[in-house]
Amino acid sequence: MEYRSLFREHGMKCTPSRLRVYQVLENNVSPLGAQEIYEIINQEDHVADLSTVYRILNAFVQQEMVIRTVIDGDDRALYEVKRHEHKHHFVCLRCKEVFPLAGCPLERYEQNLGQEEGFVVEGHRLEIYGYCPNCKEKKEGEESK
Ligand SMILES: [Zn+2]
Ligand SMILES: [Zn+2]
Repeated sequence: MEYRSLFREHGMKCTPSRLRVYQVLENNVSPLGAQEIYEIINQEDHVADLSTVYRILNAFVQQEMVIRTVIDGDDRALYEVKRHEHKHHFVCLRCKEVFPLAGCPLERYEQNLGQEEGFVVEGHRLEIYGYCPNCKEKKEGEESK
């Protein structure tokens, strides 16, 4: 992932401290508190004090790069990276281009698996292969030769 462009998309400059905080969050599957992030960063090299970590986290939340959750009965806020939207892709077998597709046809199916079969569904992957409109024309041209 290109961090510079990700930050730019959210109207932020990619400074070393911001990048480090973001990477720590990204590399952790579970949400982290500001104190924990601060400790992880400072184990490596001191790039930010705790108030800076808070400032960076607040900016991330404002720019919707990070989600803040406050757990009931715990006044500590937890932060996690906002993962990219769930999406499927069409992969062209000829030009290898990958086209993002709108929507997901499996949402309902997943729900049913949970409700009727008792599975706990954590996600799915689905790629569709074939020829893009551009390559389809070329392919048909070649075949009719
Ligand atoms: Zn193609
Ligand atoms: Zn899907």
